[in-house]
Amino acid sequence: MLFGRRKKNPIKIADKGVVEWKYAACGYCSTGCSIEVGLNAEGKPVASRGVADADVNRGKLCLKGIFEHELFTSAGRGTKPLMRARWHDEWRPATWDAALDTLHDEIVRIQAAYGRDSFAIISTGQMLTEEFYTLGKLTRGLIGTNNYDGNTTLCMSSAVSGYKRSFGSDGPPGCYEDFEHTDCLIAWGSNLPEQHPIIYWRLKEAQEKRNFPLIVVDPRVTMLAQNAHMHLPIRPGTDVVLQNALMHVIFKEGLHDQRYIDANTIGVDALRAEVEKYDPVTASKICGIDEDTIRVVARTFAKAEAAMQIWTMGINQSTHGSDGVVGINNLALITGNIGKPGGTSLSITGQCNAMGTREWSSCSGLPNYRLLEVPEHREEVARFWNVDPEFFPKKRGMLQTDIYQAMEAGQIKGIWLIATNPLSSLPNTARIRRAMEKLEFCCVQDCYQDSESAQYAHVFLPAGTWAEKDGVMTNTERRINRVKPVTLPPGEAKPDLWIFNRVAERFNREGRVKFPENAADIFLEMREISRGRLADISGMDHELIERNRGIQWPYTAEQRQRGETPPKGGKRLYTADGTFSFPDGRAKLIPLPFIDNNEVPDEMFPFWLNTGRLIEHWHGRTKTGKIGNNNKFSPIPFIEINPDAAAELGIRRGEYVRLVSRRSDAVAMAMPTQRVPKNMVFLPFHFHDCANRLTLGLLDPYSRQPAYKQSAVRIERIADQAAAAKLSMEMRTF
Ligand code: SF4
Repeated sequence: MLFGRRKKNPIKIADKGVVEWKYAACGYCSTGCSIEVGLNAEGKPVASRGVADADVNRGKLCLKGIFEHELFTSAGRGTKPLMRARWHDEWRPATWDAALDTLHDEIVRIQAAYGRDSFAIISTGQMLTEEFYTLGKLTRGLIGTNNYDGNTTLCMSSAVSGYKRSFGSDGPPGCYEDFEHTDCLIAWGSNLPEQHPIIYWRLKEAQEKRNFPLIVVDPRVTMLAQNAHMHLPIRPGTDVVLQNALMHVIFKEGLHDQRYIDANTIGVDALRAEVEKYDPVTASKICGIDEDTIRVVARTFAKAEAAMQIWTMGINQSTHGSDGVVGINNLALITGNIGKPGGTSLSITGQCNAMGTREWSSCSGLPNYRLLEVPEHREEVARFWNVDPEFFPKKRGMLQTDIYQAMEAGQIKGIWLIATNPLSSLPNTARIRRAMEKLEFCCVQDCYQDSESAQYAHVFLPAGTWAEKDGVMTNTERRINRVKPVTLPPGEAKPDLWIFNRVAERFNREGRVKFPENAADIFLEMREISRGRLADISGMDHELIERNRGIQWPYTAEQRQRGETPPKGGKRLYTADGTFSFPDGRAKLIPLPFIDNNEVPDEMFPFWLNTGRLIEHWHGRTKTGKIGNNNKFSPIPFIEINPDAAAELGIRRGEYVRLVSRRSDAVAMAMPTQRVPKNMVFLPFHFHDCANRLTLGLLDPYSRQPAYKQSAVRIERIADQAAAAKLSMEMRTF
């Protein structure tokens, strides 16, 4: 096929010989693009393409999605169960029975010796929802440890916590269609063009039609900031101060929506009293945004007919992450911008199925946003699963970040890591290594055998990835979409669901708790237990979901019976007065005093270290580092450094530098650019043994999410550039 320039050097697309296309939702980010994988005559996946009639992506894919079919045959896949007596011994191949028996026996041994909660389980945002539900049933209903969490604590727990504090439940209230209705958009710490390219395309298309004001709050001149009407280069970690100042102006100038506040919220007096302290002059000295800009943004936002806010890690990954989300919700609530077209506070989620784990994994409680702290919820789920309600803990246990500190302190003796790689993803790598070395037992279940964390495993369970499995995922806008098996896992690797069911058999010898074998049956079970809940999916099934290219929850059995077709489900939450998830139906306006507790630059470490993502790569590069077309554009770690700062340090473009923090050091290539201010460097977090050697990662008091983006470093010139280049190449490998 030829396209582009017709005569001179036209671009040729090779004919891959596709004979069949198979449907799935993309397995990287939470945008939730519908994708088709092309199989050739031998049944080999050879191409990927966007699905034209899917509402989310309308035929488009980003750089990661386009090459996603290459995942199935990428290097480093686990193909056999492995075992060893000590983590530094050589691996030896094992049978599935031997590996699963060892996992079961070690959980039982450690729990008997040290107590039920001494064994931890940490999963991911990458599995399918039926797998999350099954793991939750196994963990909460049979194994019984309360130290069970997902790696979504590293990206989304501040959003979850903020939604719960403001609205009484997790669950993003808006959708992508809101871009088409909004009259003003504030993006807080979100670089959509690189992180969620197809959501950005939806935003850009809507903005080109109606040119609503786009205001970007970010310390760095990101791609989104470059395309904004206003860029507010905020001092890291001070979003709450800016939010309070915006509310100060809105209340002072009578721009709030009193009717909406009276009908839908409690706590306005306490909020007004707190924001009274944040006049623009005072606030500007803390957050670095000048007082006039604060006033202009407050007026623009509050006077818009419909105004929305989106955010990503710039808010969540902070010691004030949960407060930052509550501040966004406060702003939305006092201006009546929840539950209406174009008026929303929409957390842009991270991983492809972070939402699925939030809804169904039972990590933070029990399925479908039920809470361990509520006796009726414990009773209801225990009856449904046929377990003793007294077996459930009465409150949530540790989150992931606290679990590693408990390992370090010797309270947790064993761990089962599922599709997560803490040695790459957690801050302060040296501390995580110390914690892992203290374990008596570690099982790693992953589709890649060469993840850094597998170094510490005694048992390795090879799992299938993405469309080697069957089930559903939920995207940022609550849209449940289908993933169908395109091919089989390699060698002896098995879908995660198969592994959970085999572990469950070992804890459930008498068959008291039912564990359906296939994803369609599990989904039917999930929809039963969803009836009447916020995330009601009782009107959906696998076939209907695929036919509609995803359905947003809630979509109830009653809606289906009424023949509401096509079943697009619930575009928005909280659309009527008094429908928030607290018992009184009202949202909470919560005052947010600011406490400056970050590590900040000083004489010894004079630069802010800001970490983040690149369009080519996915998280720890376990996947994209092995896909040629993703890796070749960003093969090595680099820093963005301001040209003036580089000149003062005598650093030239392309030279390697050493970054030093109070934790450790790392080597990266210097790329001078005006995208960062003179006292900041930006370092992509994807590369092995690099960014997280430096980060401190103080924890948010509510969400326990680490502050990855607020650490201090110094930069040193390296005399031996050849040695530094060699080290940098090692950081790109696994
Ligand atoms: Fe996949 Fe996200 Fe890219 Fe869509 S935007 S193709 S979901 S990585």
